[in-house]
Amino acid sequence: MALADKDRIFTNVYGYQPWNLAAARARGDWDNTRDILARGRDAIIEEIKASGLRGRGGAGFPTGMKWSFMPKQAPLDQAGNPKPSFLVINADESEPGSCKDREIIRHDPHKLVEGALVAGFAMGARAAYIYIRGEYIREAETLFAAVQEAYDAGLLGRNAAGSGYDFDVFVHRGAGAYICGEETAMIESLEGKKGQPRLKPPFPAGAGLYGCPTTVNNVESIAVAPTIMRRGASWFASFGAENNKGTKLFQISGHVEKPCVVEEEMSIPFKELIERHCGGIRGGWDNLLAVIPGGSSVPLVPASQVMDMPMDFDGCKKVGSGLGTAAVIVMDKSTDIVRAISRLSAFYKHESCGQCTPCREGTGWMWRVMERLRTGDAHVDEIDMLQQVTKQVEGHTICALGDAAAWPIQGLIRHFRPELERRIAERHGDVREAAE
Ligand code: NAD
Ligand code: SF4
Repeated sequence: MALADKDRIFTNVYGYQPWNLAAARARGDWDNTRDILARGRDAIIEEIKASGLRGRGGAGFPTGMKWSFMPKQAPLDQAGNPKPSFLVINADESEPGSCKDREIIRHDPHKLVEGALVAGFAMGARAAYIYIRGEYIREAETLFAAVQEAYDAGLLGRNAAGSGYDFDVFVHRGAGAYICGEETAMIESLEGKKGQPRLKPPFPAGAGLYGCPTTVNNVESIAVAPTIMRRGASWFASFGAENNKGTKLFQISGHVEKPCVVEEEMSIPFKELIERHCGGIRGGWDNLLAVIPGGSSVPLVPASQVMDMPMDFDGCKKVGSGLGTAAVIVMDKSTDIVRAISRLSAFYKHESCGQCTPCREGTGWMWRVMERLRTGDAHVDEIDMLQQVTKQVEGHTICALGDAAAWPIQGLIRHFRPELERRIAERHGDVREAAE
């Protein structure tokens, strides 16, 4: 069953109405926020846990559980003073294919600002920092203006929304580094340092921004929280499959008739998602080659395995991929699939922060082999060697960028090895022998 309009959280995602406070209030935002906060920290966290909400930034970590990691009693600094806690909102949306947080900020920013207060209160945070991608210039302007509107209306700052709770929201613009979307690199960047990931543990809830308890959440995860609190956990949990609850913004790009960002029920089958919202595949379903279901960091899925795939964390995992940010990249048979994955390899090589050897050296190495495979200049043995190198990188780095660089290549080799071999054979002028 497709999601009905009455069950959409992001009712202004296409910007048909103004984003401003008056229009947001007319859509139900900031409605009795004080009453939500009056339910208390534990009740809010329990409601979010019961909703089944999993992080919308890509990893799918249970949101309520993450909030519950924040200390109930503020830890003390060396001078014996209580440390503040912080909420950091990840708006550094840089994953190739991802463009949902951009739409929220453009057209529904008050959902995010109100969500910051609700989530920040629930975890006992003193303030929220929204770290917005540097390239989102207009979006940052909208966000600054929305935050200012909320201050002017008494919804932020001292006695925020009349709750008796003091809460600030700061907007911080990034400078264009993909790696600053990794949560600990983001914290380093907020502290004014070079954006490089930290080793985990400790997780941010233990030692985050300025060494204080911190939770980092994606824009969408925070923006849905007030609606969940108003409509109830059971309403949100009535959508999607077990362990994959709620509604979700899908961003569909590539070779579909109508690329779009759309809120749908989690677990909707891939084919239904595309038929219903994108007008099908360019040239018809027989023309589909492969799909990357969750942004460039997850392996591709060939057409033969994707049709009935539930668009959720478990459904994508079952076919060896991931939901990631639900940035669905559709590729038809006109795609040079080796070139497409090689292009991703170039991206990860460029964005590696260079801190750990397997990633710094491995991303460059993998890209160079990918380029030789693209042109057919590689030796056929290099396919296995490349596969082995991806395994040396995967799981051996400080942050997930190493995995993200390895997985698309693994997917390519798993599903398109004959194409790699064909190119090499063709380049060596021996197509017939390779076919045999
Ligand atoms: P992760 O699985 O390491 O962590 C996910 C979250 O859960 C983090 O906030 C982490 O602190 C928390 N967590 C995990 N284990 C924990 C524990 N034991 N105790 C306390 N907290 C714990 O993943 P990640 O590196 O944060 O994110 C990787 C994902 O990011 C990828 O799947 C990719 O899809 C996505 N991604 C998104 C974008 C984007 O533009 N939105 C860009 C790049 C990557
Ligand atoms: Fe930096 Fe890559 Fe290591 Fe991540 S995996 S810390 S991006 S070198």
